Amino acid sequence: MDPRRAVPRTDRVLADPRLTAAAVRLGERLVKRAVGEAQEACRSGRISADHVADDAVARLPASATSLRPVLNATGVVVHTNLGRAPLSPAAVDAVTRAAGTTDVELDLTTGQRGSRGAGALAALAEAVPDAGGVHVVGNGAAALALAARGLAAGRDVVLARGEMVEIGDGFRIPELLESLGVGLREVGTTNRVRLTDYADAIDDDVAFVLKVHPSNFRVSGFVSAVPVEELAKLPVPVVADIGSGLLAPHPRLPDEPDAAGTLRAGAALVTASGDKLLGGPQAGLLLGDADLVRRLRRHPFARALRVDKLTLAALEATLRGPEPPVPAMLTADPAMLRRRAEDLAAELADLGAQAVDSVGAVGGGGAPGVELASAAVALPSALADPLRATDPPVVGHVRDGRLLLDLLTVPEEDDAVLVAAVRACDRTAGRAEPVEG
Ligand SMILES: *Cc1c(COP(=O)(O)O)cnc(C)c1O
Repeated sequence: MDPRRAVPRTDRVLADPRLTAAAVRLGERLVKRAVGEAQEACRSGRISADHVADDAVARLPASATSLRPVLNATGVVVHTNLGRAPLSPAAVDAVTRAAGTTDVELDLTTGQRGSRGAGALAALAEAVPDAGGVHVVGNGAAALALAARGLAAGRDVVLARGEMVEIGDGFRIPELLESLGVGLREVGTTNRVRLTDYADAIDDDVAFVLKVHPSNFRVSGFVSAVPVEELAKLPVPVVADIGSGLLAPHPRLPDEPDAAGTLRAGAALVTASGDKLLGGPQAGLLLGDADLVRRLRRHPFARALRVDKLTLAALEATLRGPEPPVPAMLTADPAMLRRRAEDLAAELADLGAQAVDSVGAVGGGGAPGVELASAAVALPSALADPLRATDPPVVGHVRDGRLLLDLLTVPEEDDAVLVAAVRACDRTAGRAEPVEG
């Protein structure tokens, strides 16, 4: 018989209770797509007509978004490709609560329009008392763009050559500034710059001196930069792009500038990211002189950089709630990580798993060169690819021919998930080669 005759009709397949329920959760479009694919498999003879509904169920996506939760076992705390900072449970809850209709811009007492994101801004102002004013935009680059556009459009800013940073993915801070109609006056050389270089470059057309923290690279040797304390003596304001979003100094990251310290050193304005070391949602923070911040908040360009209610909710909960995962990882106890690695290695001993010491990194979030003592489970490198196909996918890193699953970035409550994922791909990929000592 022609197999096409045997393909069950769409409405018949959709009547399967599992698919009816899925349509409520995922929407009809995604369910119909799965059914269409199952019908196609039947038409081409790969499955029989009685299996079309089962096959469609198996093809259903877990969620209406294609973004999937991933277990970060790379040891890189702020992993750009994995979405940077994982939110705290309090921030996740805040996002869920704000997702519906919410009083983001309504004063429920008076019934009048309220000040947008007042709670998040108040939390930020309390966290950094040295800031006279605070504002939040979409990301760190947007914060810098607003400062540049609002304070220096049609004018120039002075920037040291050694601080002309490429943020990532080909985006460069000097090009960002130029795209906003801001002229750049480059001073110093790649490795050295002095206060006099800045002073000589300043005239009436200079709106501010920009200090960019080299957050993703390190230059060593014959180098010198001018600290904010010194730049603050110049006759124009200092805008400091600190990058990471540390609000206060961190004992483990002595070279990483923080917002409070940078303001106390004399910066008029600090810009930073919300989803690096602060451990919150993607956001751009502007902190500093009250008048400057007020001017920027009312600038027309600010409207194009406005953050949504989900960001405001997550940021406030990050600032007010329990310590988020990123800062917690920075102070994780290596001995604890080692014990977890040994327990996991014992559970996976039949695969030749071993507990090893390892070294984690802060990652795209800043503090280049800082080594975070950690521990990992070493497994055969053949498991690296199949582990990215488990649910949830597990991403580790291969070093010296072994797959290391670094526990610094794995929440302890996910240890069992890690074991289950390894077991799942061991079953599907066949027994892997044992790890070599
Ligand atoms: C990360 C970073 C940026 C860009 O911030 P985003 O939040 O990624 O837009 C800008 N400047 C510095 C110094 C950074 O470290």
